[in-house]
Amino acid sequence: MSKIYDLIIVGAGPAGLASALYAGRAKLDTLLLEKEKAGGQIVTTEEIENYPGSPQDESGPKLIGRMVEQVNHFGVDLRYEEVTGFDFSDKVKRVKTNKEEYLAKSIILANGAVPRKLDVPGEKEFTGRGVSYCATCDAAFYEDLEIYVIGGGDTAVEEAIYLTKFARKVYIVHRRDELRAAKSIRDKAMANEKIDFIWNSVVKEISGSAGVVDRMVLHNRVTGEDTEYLADEDDGIFGVFVLVGYLPETKTIKDTITLNDGGYIDADESLTTNVEGVFAAGDIRGKLLRQVVTATSDGAVAAIQAEKYIEENF
Ligand code: NAP
Repeated sequence: MSKIYDLIIVGAGPAGLASALYAGRAKLDTLLLEKEKAGGQIVTTEEIENYPGSPQDESGPKLIGRMVEQVNHFGVDLRYEEVTGFDFSDKVKRVKTNKEEYLAKSIILANGAVPRKLDVPGEKEFTGRGVSYCATCDAAFYEDLEIYVIGGGDTAVEEAIYLTKFARKVYIVHRRDELRAAKSIRDKAMANEKIDFIWNSVVKEISGSAGVVDRMVLHNRVTGEDTEYLADEDDGIFGVFVLVGYLPETKTIKDTITLNDGGYIDADESLTTNVEGVFAAGDIRGKLLRQVVTATSDGAVAAIQAEKYIEENF
C-alpha cells in the first residue's frame, strides 16, 4: 500500500488502453485497473469498419488484443480488480478495489458505460435465457431461430445485421417510426431480406414457460394496442437483444466528480475534472461522438495532461 504510482487508470477499454500506452511510453509508473475483461463495449462488436488503419476483417476482440499487447510492451501494470471507491481529499489520491488500496499522484477515469436496461417485467429474470445485451457473445445460440432486436440506434441496427448471419429472421423493434442509426447502416438493414421492422413499439413484458423466453408483449405507442409474440412451437424460444444505448459508469464517483445533466463527467477537451489531478477519458465524459477513435484520442490527451500535472505538482 505504501507505493505511490504516478498514475492509476480506471477501465481498460479503448480510452484506458490508449492512456496506458501513452503513460507507459512516457515512463510513468502506471497501474491500469479493469473489473472484467479488457476492451469494454467494443469487444462485443464483431465488425469494425471505422477505426482508421484497421484491416477489413477487424473485430473488437482483435483490436483490443493488439492494444493490450502494446500496453504490456510498455510495462504498464494491468490488474483485474473492481474499483469500489476513491478518496481524492489529499494530493496523493487513494483508489480502493475489491482486493487492495492503491495510491497515485494522478488518476484517469476511463470506466466507460454499461448497457441501458428496459426495466420491464421478465427482463432481469430471463437475462441469459433469451434476453441478451451482446450480439457477439450470444448470436450463436440463436442459429436458425427468430430474434427481436430492441432499439433504433447504430448499435441495434448494426448488430441486427450481424445477427442475420445466425438467425432465421430478425425483427428490429423501435419506439419511433424512424431509425436513429446513421444512413449507411440504415440502408444496409433496409436492404437485408432477413430483417423486418416493428415500428412505434416498446416492450411491455417478457416471459417464458420452460425457463426460456417464448413470449413477449409489445405495446404500440401510436395505436395503444398490445400485441403478444409467441415463439414458433418447433423453436420453443426466441431471442430478445436489448440494444438501447448505454449509461455512464459513475456510481463510484458521483459524490466527488461533477457530472453534467446527462450523468456524464463534466470534462471539456482538456479532460480535466473538478478535482485537480483527476482526468476523464472516453465514453464516461460528456462529448459529441462516442466511438473508438474518439475514446483513444481522449486517452492520449488524458495521459499527456496527467504527465504535465505530475511534473508541475510533485
Ligand atoms: P443510442 O445512439 O443512444 O441509441 C439508443 C437507441 O435505443 C435509440 O434508437 C433509442 O430510441 C432507443 N431507446 C433508448 N431507450 C429505449 C427504451 N427504454 N426502450 C426502447 N428503445 C429505447 O445508442 P447506441 O446505438 O448504443 O449508440 C451509442 C453511441 O455509439 C452512439 O454515439 C453511436 O453513434 C455510437 N456507435 C457507433 C457505431 C458506428 O459508428 N459504427 C456503432 C455503434 C455505436 P430513440 O431513437 O427514439 O431515442
